[in-house]
Parts: sequence; C-alpha cells; structure tokens
Amino acid sequence: MGEPHPKLETTDLSRTFGRGSAAVDALGPLDLTVAPGEFVCIVGPSGCGKSTLLRIAGGLLRPSTGELAIRTSSPRPAAMIFQDYGIYDWKTVLANVRFGLDIQRVPRREANARARDWLARMGLADFASAYPATLSGGMRQRVAIARALAVEPEILLMDEPFAALDAQLRTILQDELLDLTQTTRTTTLFITHSLEEAIVLGDRVLVMSARPGRIIAERRPPFPRPRSGDVRSAPEFTTLKSELWELLRPEAVPA
Ligand code: ADP
Ligand code: MG
Repeated sequence: MGEPHPKLETTDLSRTFGRGSAAVDALGPLDLTVAPGEFVCIVGPSGCGKSTLLRIAGGLLRPSTGELAIRTSSPRPAAMIFQDYGIYDWKTVLANVRFGLDIQRVPRREANARARDWLARMGLADFASAYPATLSGGMRQRVAIARALAVEPEILLMDEPFAALDAQLRTILQDELLDLTQTTRTTTLFITHSLEEAIVLGDRVLVMSARPGRIIAERRPPFPRPRSGDVRSAPEFTTLKSELWELLRPEAVPA
C-alpha cells in the first residue's frame, strides 16, 4: 500500500508574463501534490503568484513550463471560487447557484433540487428568488460557495474567498467551510492572506516565497479531524502562527 494518487499534482510548474525585458516571472518552479480529500492552504506575500497558481489549476491560464495535472475519477469538474465572488447580479440566487449545473446540462428539475439543497445548507433557503444586490456581503459569499459546491467538484479551488469580509463573518464562514469539507471530504486548495485561517482549515499549510513564488516551507497544524473552530484558542495554534509568521516575514518585506 502506497500513498493514493494525488488529486492534483504540479511538476516544475512556472509562469512568466510578457517577454524580453518586460518579462515578469510570476510563479515557480513549483512542485506540489494534493492528496484526495486533503485541504491544503497556501499563504504567501502579495504578488507572489498565488492567484496565478489557482488560475492555472482552474484551467484559465497556461503554465510557461511544467505541468499541472488534476486526476478526475468522473466527469465532475474542478470548481473555483473567485476572489471577487463572480456572482451575476441579473440572475436570481437560485439561478446563480444552479449556474454550474446548467453548464453541465443537468436536467432543470434535478438542478433546482440540488441548488435548493445547497441554499438550505448555507442558510439561504428563503432567498432563492432574491437578487444578489439585495444580499449582504456574507450572504453573497455563501451564494458563491453554494454555487461552487452544487456541482460537487472533484477539487475546490478558493482564492482568498473571505478576504473582503469583516472579522466576525470571516470566522463564521471559516467554521462553516470546516464543517462542510469535513463532511464532504472535498479536496481543496485554499489561498489566503490569513495565517489563522490557514491553520484552522488546513491539513497542510504551504508557505510561498516572494515572486516568483516557490514553496519554502510546509507545516501540518497538529489538530485531528474532525476539528472545530475551538482550535483557535489552543496554545499550539499560537505557536504555529508565530512560526509561520517568522517564515513569511522575510518574504513579505520588500528587498
Ligand atoms: P498574488 O495572487 O500572490 O497576489 P498574482 O498571481 O496575482 O499574485 O500575481 C503574481 C505576479 O504576476 C504579480 O507581479 C502580478 O503583477 C503579475 N501578473 C499577474 N497576472 C498578470 C497578467 N495577466 N499580466 C502580467 N502580469 C501579471
Ligand atoms: Mg491573488
């Protein structure tokens, strides 16, 4: 018995934007694996290539060198939650959540049922026919999460999904995401600025260097699953947070 095949694997992955004297080396080279069911968090300084990595994983951008492989066991898609929510204001909440299912041509009755089920799980059952403009930021974010999860993705790709939210809401949604991913065992690659968030959520926390971002350290938060938000008050939490900050600080300071 060896390790199961990784769900996501990058080999010598890099990305450069532009060419010649204007070229910007944004990412890598980077070797990364994410096991089935694993929740991997990536922290790194601003501009180090985190969104570039997620966009490559989401199929929105090509690598310059190397490759990124996602092993799918079914035709289910990977899903990405964009930094800016990507919610359509002219669609109802239900239609937004159903969006990925419509693209997959899931029959309308089934798609509606699945979308309503996810809305209920996100506490939004009463808002199915509302328009996003009438919702709070936190509710819009939950719509985005419901939309991503409704397609039952093989891999959830999240790029600082809670960055725009206030601290309380952020904590609540972290706890919800923890519950959800521990129930569904969804393989997740999660980018965040927040060390707390990475420690609460991650099976592993990867630290990236300044641009071009490479992985310079890896830590496993010492909290067994299923875990709850209570780990925030554990002494090991504070210790790990300081340790991660010591690793990150030299990268975050302009040279
Ligand atoms: P992060 O998400 O870690 O803040 P990004 O992946 O967005 O960083 O960007 C990494 C680097 O690549 C930055 O220097 C950014 O300016 C540059 N970059 C990102 N996208 C493009 C693009 N489409 N064209 C040119 N440069 C880009
Ligand atoms: Mg980014």
